Amino acid sequence: MSSASSGADTAWVDEAIKHLSTLVDSDLPGWSRIGFSEQDAAARDWIHQQMLELGLDVRTDPVGNVIGRLEGQDPNAPDIVIGSHSDTVPGGGRFDGIVGVVGALEVVRVLQRSNIRLRHGLRVVDFSNEEGNPQGIKLVGSRAVAGTLGPEALAASDEEGRTLAALMASGGRSPQEVGSARWNRRDIAAYLELHIEQGPRLEAAGASIGVVTRICGISTFVLDVHGRRDHAGTTPMSTRADALCCAADAVLAVQRIAASSDDGVGTVGAVTTTSPLTNTISEEARVTGEFRSADETDLEELLQTFAGTLPALDARHGTRTDLAWKMDPPAIMDEALSDLVAEAARRAGHDALRLYSGATHDSVEMSAMAPSAMIFVPSVGGRSHCPEEWTDLADIGRGIDVLTQAVRLRDDLP
Ligand SMILES: [Zn+2]
Repeated sequence: MSSASSGADTAWVDEAIKHLSTLVDSDLPGWSRIGFSEQDAAARDWIHQQMLELGLDVRTDPVGNVIGRLEGQDPNAPDIVIGSHSDTVPGGGRFDGIVGVVGALEVVRVLQRSNIRLRHGLRVVDFSNEEGNPQGIKLVGSRAVAGTLGPEALAASDEEGRTLAALMASGGRSPQEVGSARWNRRDIAAYLELHIEQGPRLEAAGASIGVVTRICGISTFVLDVHGRRDHAGTTPMSTRADALCCAADAVLAVQRIAASSDDGVGTVGAVTTTSPLTNTISEEARVTGEFRSADETDLEELLQTFAGTLPALDARHGTRTDLAWKMDPPAIMDEALSDLVAEAARRAGHDALRLYSGATHDSVEMSAMAPSAMIFVPSVGGRSHCPEEWTDLADIGRGIDVLTQAVRLRDDLP
């Protein structure tokens, strides 16, 4: 490695983040830039333009991923990939994903200011629709790149029957060409993602840099409760089979089970009923929720414990429950690459705290393609997916410095 690179230009980074925060849906709270919306397209066009101005070889692929490539000295060396996503959740903040995209652009600017030419190609990416959609498909862009956005995902539909493919087409993308968005894993040396922590641990530890060891697995479940429809005025309390009451008990069971586990969390997103009337006892109720844990065995145990409590709930309420679930196991970040990131942090003058991520990221899909690692910067108060989401500019600058160092260290390897 030659001389140390100069630091990130935080004034430019600040301006870029502020500009992106103007490309939002004013009908929604916070800073909302929903995947495949008009504002999402405007932000991606702007990022595409920024990449062109940096002299990158740029394309926006059929699913909306914006990809810019900085040529390396060795045409046979695989690319180092850096980036994140620029879409947000409804009511989201200005930093989730955006810090990683703007930070990746700044890495290119730092390299150019310092006249550093990497041996590897550097691929900068703004992944499309990381946050998901009403069709229930997250990580759309990185799945397309990894080749895991199959016909089933494209056919997934929202409550009105609109498919993901239709949503993508409405945003000007070409779902029928999703196959051509796929990357060849032989072309990728490594993936490095800078992201805000979205939790309170870095702040609590007084650390400015986190290195992610693994990304939590998620078990999403649907619990269907079958009761009996009866008159709310004439049916004695003792003879009811009230599906909604059993569902309410199940919601609290999720909370109790997760709270008594080591590191697991559990959340119910919705409870619905077929008879939302006060004069009728609910016949059917549905509880949708999830458990998360960084440990696959713990994740299985959380679900098994939940499943194990259901017979008692049925006995109490006279109901019958059916539990269905889908498990996405934890994604393990590459150990050697994570060590390299920790070394990059040390060289940039920061101690790195190792931690797992409770939130999912494009790194989950990328880790199946190539060795992947993540750099976290602190979230004030641990707040995220809300308008109050905040990360100090100085911390963002530190994160970009570590990312730059990590790219250079990785570039020294084959
Ligand atoms: Zn994110």
